[in-house]
Amino acid sequence: MKLSELKNGESAVIIDIAGHGGFRKRIMEMGFVRGKLVVSVQSSPMNDPVKYSIMGYDVSLRRSEAAMIDVLYEHEANAALGPAKAFVSHESCESCEGCDLRPQRQVVRKTEINVALVGNPNSGKTSLFNALSGSSEHVGNYSGVTVDAKTGHFNYRGYRFNLTDLPGTYSLSAYSPEEVYIRQHLFEQMPDVIINAVVASNLERNLYLTTELIDLNQRTVVALNMYDELEASGAKLDHEQLGAMLGIPMVPTVARSGKGLNALLDAVIETFEGRHNAVRHIHISYGESLEREIAALSAHMRDSDDVPLQFPVRYWAMKLLEGDAQIAKQLGQCQHFAQWQEAAARAARSLTKEQNKDVEMTISDYKYGFINGALQETFVEGKQEANRQSRRIDRLVANKWLGFPIFIALMWLMFTATFTLGAYPQDWIDGLFGWLGQVVEGLLPDGAVKDLLANGIIGGVGAVAVFLPQILILYLFISLMEDSGYMARAAFIMDKLMHRMGLHGKSFIPLLMGFGCNVPAIMATRTIESHSSRLITILVTPFMSCSARLPVFILLAGTFFPNHAATVLIGLYLTGGLVAVLTARLLRATHFKNDETPFVMELPPYRWPTLRATLRHMWDKCAQYLKKIGSVILVATVVIWFLSYFPRPEAPTAGNSEQALYEQSYMARIGKFVEPALRPMGFGWRASVALLASIPAKELVVSTMGVLYSGDADDE
Ligand code: GDP
Ligand code: MG
Repeated sequence: MKLSELKNGESAVIIDIAGHGGFRKRIMEMGFVRGKLVVSVQSSPMNDPVKYSIMGYDVSLRRSEAAMIDVLYEHEANAALGPAKAFVSHESCESCEGCDLRPQRQVVRKTEINVALVGNPNSGKTSLFNALSGSSEHVGNYSGVTVDAKTGHFNYRGYRFNLTDLPGTYSLSAYSPEEVYIRQHLFEQMPDVIINAVVASNLERNLYLTTELIDLNQRTVVALNMYDELEASGAKLDHEQLGAMLGIPMVPTVARSGKGLNALLDAVIETFEGRHNAVRHIHISYGESLEREIAALSAHMRDSDDVPLQFPVRYWAMKLLEGDAQIAKQLGQCQHFAQWQEAAARAARSLTKEQNKDVEMTISDYKYGFINGALQETFVEGKQEANRQSRRIDRLVANKWLGFPIFIALMWLMFTATFTLGAYPQDWIDGLFGWLGQVVEGLLPDGAVKDLLANGIIGGVGAVAVFLPQILILYLFISLMEDSGYMARAAFIMDKLMHRMGLHGKSFIPLLMGFGCNVPAIMATRTIESHSSRLITILVTPFMSCSARLPVFILLAGTFFPNHAATVLIGLYLTGGLVAVLTARLLRATHFKNDETPFVMELPPYRWPTLRATLRHMWDKCAQYLKKIGSVILVATVVIWFLSYFPRPEAPTAGNSEQALYEQSYMARIGKFVEPALRPMGFGWRASVALLASIPAKELVVSTMGVLYSGDADDE
């Protein structure tokens, strides 16, 4: 039976996973492995994708992808799978090169510790980062937030810590840009200690990444984050024993409240100094046959002296057997690489034949076996109250009938609040700048300086500053949706529609963010695993009318359609959306014919957004905008003012009206020069100038028009 055939509410056991490459790997590292129980929880309003529950968390999968997974009902599965897999033992390693790969670095006492933060999306890395470094990174309950490495610095117990927040990832294979990025970071930067953020209430899947760090033999400290949630669920964890088994110190933390952070840093220091007693180099065993091949290949590789030292030889050998393309590239320089690769391919073929599954699958099976074994001895499950509550909310929010209405209502609320509520403070700011302009007019004598201040700077900057309230409100909503977990649901609900456009549900968030600003939106596309979907999303995002365009829209709609301004405004937004859809479909039909990666996306439990995180995010946006006003926009308004004020005869005669003076300005000359090219669009020279001026920042259309049309006879 296929997983996709499972009805809502039914459960089954996974028997096999078809498909290959990125798809299978991705599915497996998300927890879809042989022998696991999976429940079909709920389908999205358009019946596709479907929310499944596996390993105590929820994940969304398209039906076409669920059809690649073979399952059996529980009673049938027991016979097919045979007796439960025995606990896979792991032994402390005494003598491999991994042990002396990273010698205790106490020869020269270093006072600086480079720490990298690694963990699944939503494990609280950014919250940890903020709490530790006191910096103001944005946190969010959605996997799209951290897209780049950020480094913060702080001092603790005589050490200087350089802490790097890395993007969230489920594993360290080479199928998504994050994975490649993090592995590259570890390879090149060689952090002294890794803090692995792990969701304490969802250990089974979260520890998968930890097993990869064990393979890499990195000095690691696990932050058992969200320990409050684990305690609230009534679960019991013997974290010291778990740490001793894995050879990794484990420290319970609550990043949100700052609990356990000193203990975490103490553990980092002890690990760094090589005196933490849980630290131990272990090998996870991958079964007799595979271990035999790993040993043979490592021995072969060890004969050469050009194997990169950053990672253990055992790791390189494992990855070659898995057929990891990225690793092949990294090792490509080695003299005997061709021989190794050939030996690895031969061994992989015979292993696949012998075990009836490929090496990747064997490895992830054993990893999960290893995790299960360790948890069996240290962990007692509590009740999954948080999950149950999230499911109740989802039954409403992603309901067949209510899902879209709720979604549309939220979007409507967001835009109405932005535009109507924002209008009040907007008036105040407008009034403030108007008053300032008058004061200056009254104080200064006529001339260039007065004109520069009143019309150039105050007029131009004021025209842009009035949009600050709207930007704040928009980001309040986006931040609340991200932090609460609703953004992931929006992607879940929208996937089918987005799929019709040739995109992913995940493309929806960048596109939505595009209404705020295209730059972070395009950066956020990094979380879309599929290369083609990512590129298409990037290419159509500029059709989403960003907030910088809003002033222009409002100005034009209000001026030319005073009675239908709102309708015209919505029409502009919708037209942009429509063009985006058409472009995306066109690109999908012509240039990017196939889509290679699955739509697996975690649906994190709903969490209350914290006031602090929300305010922080709003402040970040506000600061960004103010900075822009103070820099690019200020300079640009001055330049535009200069170009439109000069050249100017010494003493204007009666015949030289303001209007006539503009006609001679540099600006007008430029405008008139390009006018013929823009004439087909119906633009006169002023509009042409405004358009040119908007190249650095779109808001500048407004301030340019402000400068160009002010003092004009038909000002109104
Ligand atoms: P990241 O994706 O790993 O960077 O995770 P974030 O730092 O953005 O956090 C994801 C969500 O978990 C946010 O809503 C945080 O407020 C929340 N969170 C982070 N740490 C904790 C914690 O220790 N306890 C609880 N209850 N929530 C937390
Ligand atoms: Mg983050």
